[in-house]
Amino acid sequence: MSSCSEDLLTRDIQCYCGRTAVLKTSWTNNNPGRRFRTCSTRNERGGGNACQFFTWVDPPICARAGVIIPGLLRKLRKRDEEIAGLKKRSQIMGVLLFFVTVMLLLLVMG
Ligand SMILES: [Zn+2]
Repeated sequence: MSSCSEDLLTRDIQCYCGRTAVLKTSWTNNNPGRRFRTCSTRNERGGGNACQFFTWVDPPICARAGVIIPGLLRKLRKRDEEIAGLKKRSQIMGVLLFFVTVMLLLLVMG
């Protein structure tokens, strides 16, 4: 079985300026994880001298997934921030532990 979307995925598609359109993944709230093809010279902001070629590869995100995925991404980002905070805290604890150990050694030896 072949679908339109598989065809867009595997076939070499040329953009308006004759380059092979590159496959990218959207991470916007409206289209999380939805793949599209666009001009290879187009930068993240969509500016530059790129042509305006753009075509979706994946079908539209269903309403439910469109609600769930951004929520999951937000949770993931929050978790990453928590991990970064914990790492920082454990570094500080490590430094404190070192000083306490040094103080104790000085007390014992002094
Ligand atoms: Zn182009």
